[in-house]
Amino acid sequence: MFKKVLIANRGEIALRVIRACRELGIQTVAVYSEADRESLHVRFADDDVCIGPPPSRLSYLRIPAIIAAAEITGADAIHPGYGFLAENAGFADACANSNITFIGPTAEQIRQMGDKASARRLAQELNIPVVPGSPGPVENPAEALAIAEEIGFPVIIKAAAGGGGKGMRVAHDADAFMQAFGLARNEALAAFGNAEVYVEKFLERPRHIEIQLMGDQFGNLMHLGERDCSIQRRHQKLIEEAPSPGLPPEVRTRMGESAVRAAKHIKYLGAGTIEFLYENGCFYFMEMNTRVQVEHPVTEMVTSCDIVKEQIRVAAGEPLSIKLYGDQLRGHAIECRVNAEDPSRNFQPAPGTITAYHPPGGPGVRVDTHVYAGYTVPPYYDSLLAKVIVHGNTREEALARMSQALDSFIVEGVPTTIPFLKSVIHHPAFVAGQVDTKFLEREPGLLKPAQ
Ligand code: ADP
Repeated sequence: MFKKVLIANRGEIALRVIRACRELGIQTVAVYSEADRESLHVRFADDDVCIGPPPSRLSYLRIPAIIAAAEITGADAIHPGYGFLAENAGFADACANSNITFIGPTAEQIRQMGDKASARRLAQELNIPVVPGSPGPVENPAEALAIAEEIGFPVIIKAAAGGGGKGMRVAHDADAFMQAFGLARNEALAAFGNAEVYVEKFLERPRHIEIQLMGDQFGNLMHLGERDCSIQRRHQKLIEEAPSPGLPPEVRTRMGESAVRAAKHIKYLGAGTIEFLYENGCFYFMEMNTRVQVEHPVTEMVTSCDIVKEQIRVAAGEPLSIKLYGDQLRGHAIECRVNAEDPSRNFQPAPGTITAYHPPGGPGVRVDTHVYAGYTVPPYYDSLLAKVIVHGNTREEALARMSQALDSFIVEGVPTTIPFLKSVIHHPAFVAGQVDTKFLEREPGLLKPAQ
């Protein structure tokens, strides 16, 4: 087992990884930017290193600074968390070149699955359904338009290197398509340094359902059931749950088998997620995320598996210790992402100092956060303040717990999405489990609360 793990991240996920290391008896190193000097991950780690000024490209994305921090502190492994360098194959290579274990899949697996177009091709080769679309990236606008017309509008243009809901444009007709195509390529180049895009049929009312996978170095690979992440705003997830309230058992089985087949094919190592869209009884492979996800706690609640500890164990060469299989889940879990954003101002990020803070508690309630009273939310990073995760014996019990948890969550000093989340979980369609990724677009009242 590792002696010392450096966490190349900040915020709640850095704390989450520190806790897992502590339980395993591993020392920890925090890295931080000048904006995060007062952060809890710095306080809780055994060692800490400042890696640069506030902007992430000068700190959390600076590979040489992070490798140097690991070398100086004697860390023998690096956990990348999610975001930042988590899906950067060059970073996984840099770790290997310095004899530091990257806690995640191999660089080659990241390359294979990180490019959405190549992941799509692999799925097709394995007879896993994909959304109808271009066979690979398309460069020529006329060629792309011909493909769009063949599959039928609306279509979505997606960056091959995309992530986090960025680099996607929807077009409803040929004129809009020609405009969107150029913009999407420029956006992709600016955001990801890679202009490649591909075209896909835009599904009208899909659910977003993803399968959590875990593999070890001995060829064991299992899935831990699904998460339903259909409550999204601008392609970004806001509420996630497990199991999905809208998935027939027979489809769940086939989706799980497809995900395991794809991951086994590349001998996938560590934690990963395959994302699918599900509509009218059919599911379609969308992409694979080769890292731990923000919403991993809902799976932990229904499986009793500690996904982060398992990541660390398999990276250290141990076999999977999970005994529970995907079809043996316990109860129901829901996660709400509480962001420092102002719903009355189009969800604009709202950094500032938290003047009062009281998290919810009680049976089946978990809060993953890095926030405390007096903490200042810096403007440089994402606006996630806390994840409220509840578990109940039934979905009904989980919903009641979420309701009381959000009611008793006090955050003052910055606007938060708590009131918005409350109205979503009380909406009759959400209560009935009948939502899809376009639900919030159809309910502008939820997005623009009365002032
Ligand atoms: P990212 O990697 O940026 O998260 P994804 O490929 O996972 O991008 O897509 C994010 C979201 O965008 C999906 O959950 C879904 O809501 C929407 N989306 C993506 N592709 C399609 C599609 N073909 N039809 C409809 N919605 C889509």
